[in-house]
Amino acid sequence: MADDTRVPIASTTSSAPSSWGLGDGQAIPWEYAPAPESRDIVTLKPRYGLFIGGREVQAADGAVFTTIDPSTEEPLAEVACASAVDIDTAVKAARRASDKTWRKLSGRERAKYLFRIARILQERSREFAVLESMDSGKPIKESRDVDIPLAAAHFWYYAGWADKLDYAFPGRKATPLGVAAQIIPWNFPLLMLSWKIAPALAAGNTVVLKPASTTPLSALLFAEVCQQADLPAGVVNIVPGPGEVGMSLVTHPDVDKVAFTGSTEIGRKIFRGVAGTDKALTLELGGKAANIVFDDAPLDQAVEGIVNGIYFNQGEVCCAGSRLLVQESIADTLIDKLKDRLATIRVGDPLDKNTDVGAINSKSQLEKITELVASGVAEGAELYQPACDLPERGYFFRPTLFTNVAQSHRIAREEIFGPVLSVLTFRTPDEAVEKANNTPYGLSAGIWTDKGSRILSMVSKMKAGVVWANTFNRFDPTSPFGGYKESGFGREGGMHGLHAYVRLEDR
Ligand code: NDP
Repeated sequence: MADDTRVPIASTTSSAPSSWGLGDGQAIPWEYAPAPESRDIVTLKPRYGLFIGGREVQAADGAVFTTIDPSTEEPLAEVACASAVDIDTAVKAARRASDKTWRKLSGRERAKYLFRIARILQERSREFAVLESMDSGKPIKESRDVDIPLAAAHFWYYAGWADKLDYAFPGRKATPLGVAAQIIPWNFPLLMLSWKIAPALAAGNTVVLKPASTTPLSALLFAEVCQQADLPAGVVNIVPGPGEVGMSLVTHPDVDKVAFTGSTEIGRKIFRGVAGTDKALTLELGGKAANIVFDDAPLDQAVEGIVNGIYFNQGEVCCAGSRLLVQESIADTLIDKLKDRLATIRVGDPLDKNTDVGAINSKSQLEKITELVASGVAEGAELYQPACDLPERGYFFRPTLFTNVAQSHRIAREEIFGPVLSVLTFRTPDEAVEKANNTPYGLSAGIWTDKGSRILSMVSKMKAGVVWANTFNRFDPTSPFGGYKESGFGREGGMHGLHAYVRLEDR
């Protein structure tokens, strides 16, 4: 990575946090030894094809692109790059599978395949976790303990619904929509795949899924899982390719449903792409969540929740708690505690089991984060970054904390999608609500307080699809997830997620 993309450290500490009671300026007394996860469990193919009609095929025009490891900038593999011709082939394969097999199977039979996929994901979880960390840059402890178990959990959960659609929608007859076009981002590649494929299949739809160009490998390993599970050919098709190919998929006339997770900007384009058709659409877009800490909150717990809220997955999380709203009377204490905690965050090799913050997913994302952080400094906010050595190569960024932030600053308004926290203060609950809702987004929020009544009162006033209380970034397949305003519409997860893949008729 070029040095000029690094932001200078404004304030650093190489000594132990004061709360450790070691005395001023004393060095941290120990270091973690390296604990690298072995890559041996992953067998990387030199070249991956598209997965269409149950088979691996090359792109019609033979095009390929290279996917790299963002922590080393080394190439991992070549991947077939779909064009509009391949999209057409994939949609035809999905349509055939829909008409000839999948929608004709009983829910009970469909469930067997979903249970099988869930089991295989669990059996191969270590392989998936290592591959996901290599291709995306996320720490192995997160891919191992969050992404992959949750992906399997979504297949378990929706397998359970496949033969119970009549109970999910009492008095209504649920029929599948048909062929679903699904476009996923790079921040949770396999998990986003499972959020989309599991409910679609459970409800009797077939799918064509386009993974993000920087993270195609776990989706292509999932293609192997489909083969291993004997899933009928064409039920799942996976077509890596650039953004324009995503648009060919969205606008393909034989697609019945479009599901997208990604930026609000592309979400708008997709909305325009389906306008005037009868395609069903769900959009899960960006966010700028407020994490609100009241003066009666358990502060040490809140600090852990704040850290998890913004530094989990390098902050590349649509629902990240990127705006911290702190009640004025405790602001200094909380910020001191946060700075102490930041000094202990370990940034580095994603495959090291001790790493807390891995690599940023791509050079362009790193440049975006760097530019926004520079704008924060230029607009007058106060930057704090702990002193931590960043690896020589790869796309890394220090966990960053901004104080003295005004509502008008770009870092308080725009989705940064990086490990950058903007701290603002408030005096009263009303002011907290006003500031929290003062954003075009409305995906998530967090509230930290000792009082249940305050939680209920705040939740009812927040314009956010998910509000966590005394925790943050918790996910469960049974729980619906989605946004308000520019964060999109439609829900994934739970029965709501199933609803997005069925047509309901009166019995
Ligand atoms: P995008 O929204 O561009 O990418 C998400 C997915 O959409 C990828 O599969 C991408 O393909 C695809 N795509 C890109 N252009 C089109 C198009 N015209 N039609 C159809 N599909 C398309 O996000 P970026 O990767 O560019 O990230 C930019 C910013 O978006 C981030 O900085 C972050 O703020 C936000 N973001 C939000 C996410 C969320 O979960 N809410 C997830 C990812 C990003 P390809 O990878 O080939 O470009």
